Amino acid sequence: MIRSDFLRIDPKRRANLDHKKKQFAAPTFKQQDYPHRLNFYDVPPTEEITLEQFEQWAIDRLRVLAEIEACSYRNKSAAETETHLTPLLQKYLPLSSNTSSSNGAADQRLKNERQKDHYSHFILRLAFSATEDLRRRFVRAETMLFRFRFQRDDTREKRAFIESLNLDWEPVEDDERQRLAEHLLNATPGLRRVDEEAWYKVDWERVPELVERRSVFLYKGKAYVPGREQLSMIIAEFTARLERALELTSRALPRLDEDDRLTPILNHLSKNFGSAESVYSEGEGFVDGAAITANNIDQLSQHFPLCMRSLHMNLRKNNHLKHYGRLQYTLFLKGIGLSLEECIIFWRQSFKGFTDDEFNSRYKYNIRHAYGDVGGDVNRRGRGYPPYSCQKILGDSNPGVGQTHGCPYRHYSVDNLIGLLQTTGVNDKEVLRGVREDVEKMRYHIACNRVFESTHKTEIKRVKEDGSWNQVDLDTIVHPNTYFKRSFLLKQTARASKNS
Ligand code: SF4
Repeated sequence: MIRSDFLRIDPKRRANLDHKKKQFAAPTFKQQDYPHRLNFYDVPPTEEITLEQFEQWAIDRLRVLAEIEACSYRNKSAAETETHLTPLLQKYLPLSSNTSSSNGAADQRLKNERQKDHYSHFILRLAFSATEDLRRRFVRAETMLFRFRFQRDDTREKRAFIESLNLDWEPVEDDERQRLAEHLLNATPGLRRVDEEAWYKVDWERVPELVERRSVFLYKGKAYVPGREQLSMIIAEFTARLERALELTSRALPRLDEDDRLTPILNHLSKNFGSAESVYSEGEGFVDGAAITANNIDQLSQHFPLCMRSLHMNLRKNNHLKHYGRLQYTLFLKGIGLSLEECIIFWRQSFKGFTDDEFNSRYKYNIRHAYGDVGGDVNRRGRGYPPYSCQKILGDSNPGVGQTHGCPYRHYSVDNLIGLLQTTGVNDKEVLRGVREDVEKMRYHIACNRVFESTHKTEIKRVKEDGSWNQVDLDTIVHPNTYFKRSFLLKQTARASKNS
């Protein structure tokens, strides 16, 4: 699948290799036609793609899956989820139906979309098959994505797709249907006549949704499913196949370990499920035209997420922060566009109990290092470290005594967290209850987004109504610098519209 211009095995040694020690079986390359929009992902891709495509396609899909997961965690209704997902899918993972082009499935645009969908699914399979937890989350998010697309597919194309699957659903014959008519009518809500529907017999484990809802007749281990419940059967089949495939992939994973091109990418992807860190790029947190100076950090701190707000409050209270707190905060300030000179002024003014000499010898070097002004070649070339993402902050070990870095949603006790939120003006009982629940379920960045939505609800409503922001501009926040920028811009937009 990967295009490579070098051979990993010395050609002189290749002839002497024991065939049993070969890493992979010889692949059979096959161009796929993608006649249908939907895909059960039964056939792995074998065409070549570049490493850049490999990574970018996976990141794009990951972004969509992370949003799907966030919608479900935040109990968004089907309509809200649709409004939220449609523009994201259009941007990152478009998948058009055959009827959208006069050439149908032969259209190159459609083929490209379907190829990206197909390959990105398999790349993420590799990334998310390693542990039970990742597999479970991946199956859940992929199933939701499949359901979302299936429900919006063209009826004729949907039928053709289902026929292509050759599912072993056993049709219920007329005489059996008549014999069981009374049971079928009683067990199927809303049905008036049994001959209104085509019926299928499947093993009951294959339709867990229907069994759970008690809306299907069970007899001798079989579920009698009316045609209208096709969606449940298809979804159950999709999930079952994907679960089996992930099990198999996880067993094959150790053989990938020696591939030093793919393993780092896959590890990076799997660490970022739920917070697509990889998509944050340098300079993304800058706000054009905003005056970001040492003197107005106090005022700007109203737009900071809780992790940075609490660092700022501690700094003002103690006139000092310990090393990791300083580093986390310095990188954040760098990310919002504070220049190195202003950053040094900011820290110098904040560390009130120190002389200039003490400050210069103990703290200044670290600030310059974070900006890439000093240090080794690599540090300077890379302009220091990037601002920390939520994933990085959440994943770091718990702060020790006297340390204030980290994420309050993850590292504070629930009572201290609620107290801190109230100090910053979050008093809505419903929001605080939701935060407690999120934190108990370890959905820390969801709690953070909940607070953001609550504290900016008027502005969000306005920009949605006047159409100046779309759903992509309001996707789930997974980086403290995105939090700042979005908050700043929303409040600024609100101020501008009030003035006008
Ligand atoms: S979820 Fe992210 S942005 Fe929010 S407080 Fe935690 S680390 Fe900061």
